[in-house]
Amino acid sequence: MSLRVGFVLPYGQRDDGFFPDTFLGQLCADARADGHVARIARVYYEGDRSAGDAAVADRLAAWLDDGDFELIVAERIFDPAPLVAYRARRAGAMIALVARGDSIEAIDGVDLLVGAVRGATRAGHTRQASSIWQVADAFRTLVARRAAGGDLADLAGVSRIIDEQLVAGAPLPPLVARPLAPVLDHEVIALGPPPVITRRTIFGNPGCPYAADPLTQPLYRGLRLPDDVEVARRGCAFCSMGGDYARRVDAEVVASLVAQAQHILRGAPATRELVLDDQASLRYLAELIGAAGDAGVPPVRWLFAARSDTLVRERARLDDAIAAATSAGHSLEVYLTGFEAFSDAELARYNKGVTVEDQLAAVAAMRALARAHPAFHYADARGHSLILWNPWTTPEDLADTIAAIRAHGLVELFDELGRNRLRLYPDLPIHHAAARDGALTEAWDDGDRGAGRGKGYHRERPWRFLDARTRLAWELAELLRARLGRDGEAAQLHAVAAFAQTWRGDTAAIAAERARIAAGLDALIGVTDRLAHRRGPGDPPRGRQRRAQVVRLTGACNNGCATCPNRERYLPDDADAVRARLAACDAGPIVFAGREPTMRDDLLALVARRATTGPTGVVSNGRRFAYRAYAEAATAAGLSAASIKLFAPDASTADRVSRVDGAHAQALAGCRALRAAGAILEIRAPLHAAIVDLAAYAEIARSLDAQLRLDVAIDAIGLADLAAAAAAVTALAARCATEQVPLEVGPVGPALHGWIPVGADELVPSAT
Ligand code: SF4
Repeated sequence: MSLRVGFVLPYGQRDDGFFPDTFLGQLCADARADGHVARIARVYYEGDRSAGDAAVADRLAAWLDDGDFELIVAERIFDPAPLVAYRARRAGAMIALVARGDSIEAIDGVDLLVGAVRGATRAGHTRQASSIWQVADAFRTLVARRAAGGDLADLAGVSRIIDEQLVAGAPLPPLVARPLAPVLDHEVIALGPPPVITRRTIFGNPGCPYAADPLTQPLYRGLRLPDDVEVARRGCAFCSMGGDYARRVDAEVVASLVAQAQHILRGAPATRELVLDDQASLRYLAELIGAAGDAGVPPVRWLFAARSDTLVRERARLDDAIAAATSAGHSLEVYLTGFEAFSDAELARYNKGVTVEDQLAAVAAMRALARAHPAFHYADARGHSLILWNPWTTPEDLADTIAAIRAHGLVELFDELGRNRLRLYPDLPIHHAAARDGALTEAWDDGDRGAGRGKGYHRERPWRFLDARTRLAWELAELLRARLGRDGEAAQLHAVAAFAQTWRGDTAAIAAERARIAAGLDALIGVTDRLAHRRGPGDPPRGRQRRAQVVRLTGACNNGCATCPNRERYLPDDADAVRARLAACDAGPIVFAGREPTMRDDLLALVARRATTGPTGVVSNGRRFAYRAYAEAATAAGLSAASIKLFAPDASTADRVSRVDGAHAQALAGCRALRAAGAILEIRAPLHAAIVDLAAYAEIARSLDAQLRLDVAIDAIGLADLAAAAAAVTALAARCATEQVPLEVGPVGPALHGWIPVGADELVPSAT
């Protein structure tokens, strides 16, 4: 007897992320091997939650009808509608959710859960880990029984949903490993070209050995976990994997992984990365890569997960793995470390078992290894986990995490910062703490929504922020990201956290506050965009400038600005690294920018290296140029232009912003010395909440024979009064027009460094 089975792989956007398609691929292969008709489709939603997603859902519905499936199988469902509608119109059709370690629960329309019930560990502390083999075997038995028209009641690992009630079945069958050869060729449902699949998952040991008890943490003290639900009682409190690691003999694991790799690279030659599904693979990683090389597995990148403390503790094993990769011509990447937050309060809530200091030590180790070994990577795939938002998060917690991210250049680790928030499921201790504290809700509050769907995770339980300020912060973070994009997100979150900490409204006042800030932001974007792209009569003259390549510096600075954006994205700053970045530039204008370039002893040597190939400039706080000899040596070395940051028109405000007494006077002296030494000068003015009279910059620029550039960084402005900031920009433009001072205005966001002021004779047709 054969069954028609449809496997559905949904993605919240046209991006595969790190979802392991080889899990369902294996179940599909088993079904075909057992003589069933099995098809598998990747379904890429547009992520717009409207017309695009609806069109994808229609195509999925058509695919289901075409397949005439008796059983629909998915491992995550965030849009049940097309599946449930098909089930309603196709008599006898059933929907099964299969889980391999992730949290799942029945949702409307699902008939069967495979892998939800795992059974307790021998010690009884928590529930067992579940492996692909156990779930695949349970699923295989289910399909056979279904095809034979048999009763599904007593199947190991299979729970049924009857009258919306979960009827738990027997725990999963024991783990019996066997060769894995997943179906790799999938049908695709998408509105546009699907992503090329270059990354595939291979399966090692299931579960996670981290087994700390969350109930020892303050948030969980006295919390009673239910007995009628299987809960992951050990490990990180938001994770369903912790507390049990089903370790097999390393040689067996290595042989299985090499065989899986060979199968995938033969069947899907576009694969460049293999994701190791094993939370503790460092123990055998060197052996694995060596064995793969010996077996003729073509060069590939091995992506592995590791806790921050493990990376530091097992450094010797990592060194061995890097050596093995180097000699085999392969590479490896720690693609996933669960950082979650850089706030010790939040880490305790998550029962992460590490401190911020531990995490920073791990990042330092990653960077040192990558600097020393080309075969090692840690920030390309960027699967590292950050969960900025949970019911207990306060604006102060948010501020701590963002401050650490900015101070230590941690933006490089994350694909996006503020979009990820906690997902709650009943099998997680943190879910029950949320229930106790009244954070669980029947539905998402108006205007609020979970993050799961957008990313393609299984539907989660709705919850609310317990601090109204954080709810406002969440809304403002979404608003700023939607208006200003993801570039500069750290600065956006800095501004949001700073504002929310001072806000004293309640939930009822959030909508009005959000609207007020949105209106101010739109006014500011309106005026800066007009001055950048649509000038008219009566507007000030444009600056003389050319596009320039930026050599970014991340070293020291002799100022202490609270909102310094120049540290948030790490780059090695040693002489070799900077020379390499300079050498990678094409001929043409160059600007050295980031932190304080004049703090480098080799700056003038770097300038001299390039001066012959085009205008060479620097973005600086100007203080060192106050020493005339240095200014003259700089122009003699070939420095043709300087963009000098004056943090306010008046000394007291400027010194307060840079947090250095006397810095403003030195910067002005530096400007004069540079002009005297023949450099073309631009005054770089930050739009800053502390500045009372922004228009005063026009006179300063005129007195220094300089053009003016306005930086419009959201964190320096703050969110308190964006409408006033827009008015200040308009007043500055009017004053510059009166004074005929050339003015360039940057967009709301990170400062633009890619322009160099030039003389009239160096101009080429420019556009901002
Ligand atoms: S989050 Fe990571 S370290 Fe924590 S329990 Fe889950 S797999 Fe283990």
